[in-house]
Amino acid sequence: MLPDQTPPPQRRYVIVGAGLAGASTAFHLRRLGAEQVVLLERERLPDVHASGRNAAMVRTTMERPELQALADESAAELRSGRLAAYRATGGLLLGQGTDAVADHVPPARGSANFQAGDGVIDVAGLLQRYLHGADVRYACGVLGVERHATELRVRTTEGDVRADVLINAAGAWAGEVGDLPLTPRNRTLYVSQPDAAIKPSWPFLWDLDAGYYLRPESGGWLLCACDERDAAPGDYIDDEDVLLDLGAKLRKHQPELGDLRIARSWVGQRTFAPDGLPIVGFDAGTPGLFHVAGLGGHGVTLSYAVGKLAAEALLEGRRIPEALSAGRLQPS
Ligand SMILES: Cc1cc2nc3c(=O)[nH]c(=O)nc-3n(C[C@H](O)[C@H](O)[C@H](O)COP(=O)(O)OP(=O)(O)OC[C@H]3O[C@@H](n4cnc5c(N)ncnc54)[C@H](O)[C@@H]3O)c2cc1C
Repeated sequence: MLPDQTPPPQRRYVIVGAGLAGASTAFHLRRLGAEQVVLLERERLPDVHASGRNAAMVRTTMERPELQALADESAAELRSGRLAAYRATGGLLLGQGTDAVADHVPPARGSANFQAGDGVIDVAGLLQRYLHGADVRYACGVLGVERHATELRVRTTEGDVRADVLINAAGAWAGEVGDLPLTPRNRTLYVSQPDAAIKPSWPFLWDLDAGYYLRPESGGWLLCACDERDAAPGDYIDDEDVLLDLGAKLRKHQPELGDLRIARSWVGQRTFAPDGLPIVGFDAGTPGLFHVAGLGGHGVTLSYAVGKLAAEALLEGRRIPEALSAGRLQPS
């Protein structure tokens, strides 16, 4: 795919975006011996967007079988605690098993499948670990890219940067950066006022059919109505109907949680390809452009394995499964 004969470890890898996708890819590239890895991040911090607005849950049961092996590989590493602090709370998938929810979370009801291997990770710590020692240029926005003979010239707000491989890990902006059919979807998280009765060690509860989840956070509950609203990248619209929907779902399915007072809330964006699967691999049309995008609602869980897949493909020629390849969305 590449026009030059430079050995893979000596190529210059420039990554757009220092969120979980870009940070993990940089981590693995460097771990495997890449000599020149540069991250360009438009913000002054790596966690301004999805990677700093998520629920931090490591949920290993994937709805999509194509992602299960990656989730298992990632979770094994995240669970080890080697990368960042991990709370092995377990997770309850409501309606999918016969475990009594109240045995694990006394004020909650229903039956569930208890997944002992699930938990909650310190996402800020994980990002820091991925980025430790990396060459990250903050406040540096990528404006475009041009081909010059055997290299790419990346135009940025801080001047031009040379790349042999440009890695598009721009999250909600990855569709714009890489000309891909990606849709950001808004999702709102709420945290209720602290209550001493809520134990931080309780597992998360996720009802995929009714569409809500909750877990202990900051002494209260972190709550989500699983809202999904298409939006432009970075357009964090606060929709009051979501809170009404959350209240209705909790009254119906978890009435014993009582009246919860919301202390704070925020909106984040999960970014999806049309088929809901991540995009990992070389662009079908632009030589030297490689995507690590569309991590949707599982980018915390999948980050370790997706970055590893990308780096091994770039440095060692590992095959990318067709279901994840960029080519599946870019018919020649
Ligand atoms: C509400 C919510 C809850 C979630 N809960 C979970 C969960 O519990 N478990 C789980 O596994 N996943 C969860 N996720 C999903 C997870 O957070 C995402 O999949 C993941 O953070 C995506 O990472 P990313 O690096 O692709 O995107 P981002 O974190 O958005 O990073 C992309 C970066 O690219 C930068 N960028 C964009 N364009 C440019 C440019 N032109 N130049 C320079 N920089 C640029 C941006 O500034 C940004 O920092 C949740 C997401 C949301 C929104």
